[in-house]
Amino acid sequence: MNILVLGSGGREHALAWAILQNPKCDRLICAPGNAGMGLIAECADLDICDGGAVVTFCEENAIDFVVIGPEAPLATGVADRLRAVGIACFGPSAAAARLEASKAFTKEICAAVDAPTAGYAHFTQAAPARAHIRATGAPIVVKADGLAAGKGVIVAMTEAEALEAVDTMFGGEFGAAGAEVVIEEFMEGEEASFFVLVDGEVCLPIGTAQDHKRVGDGDTGPNTGGMGAYSPAPVLTDAIAQTALDQIIRPTMAEMARRGMPYQGVLYAGLMIKDGQPRLVEYNARFGDPEAQVLMMRLGAQALDLMLACAEGRLDEMHVNWAEDHALTVVMAAQGYPGDYAKGSEVRGLEGCAADSAHMVFHAGTRAEGGRVLANGGRVLNVTARGASLAEARDRAYDMVDQIDWPEGFCRRDIGWRAL
Ligand code: ATP
Repeated sequence: MNILVLGSGGREHALAWAILQNPKCDRLICAPGNAGMGLIAECADLDICDGGAVVTFCEENAIDFVVIGPEAPLATGVADRLRAVGIACFGPSAAAARLEASKAFTKEICAAVDAPTAGYAHFTQAAPARAHIRATGAPIVVKADGLAAGKGVIVAMTEAEALEAVDTMFGGEFGAAGAEVVIEEFMEGEEASFFVLVDGEVCLPIGTAQDHKRVGDGDTGPNTGGMGAYSPAPVLTDAIAQTALDQIIRPTMAEMARRGMPYQGVLYAGLMIKDGQPRLVEYNARFGDPEAQVLMMRLGAQALDLMLACAEGRLDEMHVNWAEDHALTVVMAAQGYPGDYAKGSEVRGLEGCAADSAHMVFHAGTRAEGGRVLANGGRVLNVTARGASLAEARDRAYDMVDQIDWPEGFCRRDIGWRAL
């Protein structure tokens, strides 16, 4: 079959890499793709948020199946447009993707089914939000309702910080995303991510992961899109995963179906775990980046069968073949990230890195020019390895990092520390 992957990050490179291992894939196109995806598949220039353009492209290229990587095309309804013309697609409808695109919507769905999560209040004006913060006190969490690229959440340790966050959000800093604000109870615990495929009805877990948000070793410095990840996450034990399925994920998915917006795609549940009990922090309507890199390395070729079954409502026929393995990914970023950084430096030494079922350098912000690989973003490479233990996966990943000659880049040296 002919498959189209939408997106251009390390997540999409990992999806493309796994898809290509499956003999069902005859032709793979990535749009817009990056230098790494260009090495393994065709890349096409396409506005991936324009549903009409995506449908036309699929018709012209006889695409049978579309895998949507990032959240932006989900929010603009690209999955709806594809399904409307009968093209199979992995990714939820715009209505179902509101589980990521609106925090107030998710809180309301959780409240309707009594799913464990932080208590909350929802505001459309600053004055009552400020009054709520004064009455509740700190620590407290202030969130812009809409998509704000991970920047719309302030975990405020003091009342003053929380009040300032409210003023910034209603002041227009996040545009329409901040026109409504959700204020949440502060939850303590350890965070982990749980990935579940949902075909509208059936929920099938496909793995757990933990990421590292802070830029510096020891989880210090500013937040980033993620500096590394590993799977599985030991904190998310089988028993806790079962509780999360029974108390949070299955009830919320049933509620979505009941409201006429069944969820179809991967559901990424961010969980806060304390004393053996999971509570929902957030839902995302797509794979995490860099979590997809470790999940795809562990799933390999079966990822395509699972995504197809998910899109076709056949998850009840599927089960995941788990290897007793671990995967870990180290993000290499341009110096200065997550602040200002330069583009265009050359990344050398990639040919010295192994590329097989246990080693892969997934590209994020890269661009090919005259046979050279140039840095073209903040997060540039995801150096990913698999091993019989997490320590083995880590050692293999850092051995590859040490092969890469890129003085303009950096990485954390302690990915996996919490689990190791
Ligand atoms: P991203 O997509 O980057 O994960 P987001 O903008 O969707 O972020 P959330 O995941 O809701 O926002 O929150 C970001 C982070 O803030 C969480 O990963 C968690 O560390 C922290 N956080 C969010 N809500 C709470 C809460 N109620 N209590 C404690 N910490 C929280």
